[in-house]
Amino acid sequence: MSFVVTIDGPSAAGKSTTARMLAERLGFRYLDTGAFYRALALAVLERGAGPEDPAAVLAVAQASRIEVSGSPSRAHLTLDGRDVTDAIRTPEVSELASRVAAIPEVRRLLVAWQRQIREAGPLVGEGRDLGTVVFPDAEVKIYLDADLDTRAARRCRELQTRGIAVGVEAVREDLERRDSRDRSREDSPLMAADGALHVDTSGLSMEAQVQAVLRVVQSHPAYEAVRGTA
Ligand code: C5P
Repeated sequence: MSFVVTIDGPSAAGKSTTARMLAERLGFRYLDTGAFYRALALAVLERGAGPEDPAAVLAVAQASRIEVSGSPSRAHLTLDGRDVTDAIRTPEVSELASRVAAIPEVRRLLVAWQRQIREAGPLVGEGRDLGTVVFPDAEVKIYLDADLDTRAARRCRELQTRGIAVGVEAVREDLERRDSRDRSREDSPLMAADGALHVDTSGLSMEAQVQAVLRVVQSHPAYEAVRGTA
């Protein structure tokens, strides 16, 4: 099985940027598992299925083809062959993604797709349940967190860069609601995996975040074997 680094944590804790930069520097693949739930949410939205009907959501998932491509810094996601990289980042899709992600049958299907990506080689994966459920045997497990104000400010800036105008209060409420749903669901709740290294990114620069994780990966005994092969 390929070397895996898992990065879990709540929304806007800095997981994506850290995971992408880490994957670039290590020469590993990058797996954004949240994008899978977002793509499914978009498909559900477009087909007019309701998240309150698990069987309908599962049927949409089974009929959808979600694929990832590109490098870590230019990762692309397609839904049935259509590029939806930007379309899955709206607040509406975020909200729906966390609702479809609470359906156990849906998770089983998406987790199976996510595990297949490990077969292609070493990877850095990010999400909510990577260290606990998707790759419980991962070589390195990280739990990234930051205080709510910092996370809300980051998400607000990110949305504004994408041309989506939102107030920080609304973003904060949205993050709290989704995080609480992710933490309290019965199947694969958001939590730190046993043995995960906790990194609080509130006062850290992006470079410091990446360095903190990079050091742990590079000092892992199995890293020497994959170094330069990825
Ligand atoms: O990480 P991101 O915000 O893109 O994820 C969107 C939603 O997908 C999350 O709010 C969460 O509910 C769900 N998710 C999940 N398990 C993962 C990744 C994301 O339940 N591994």
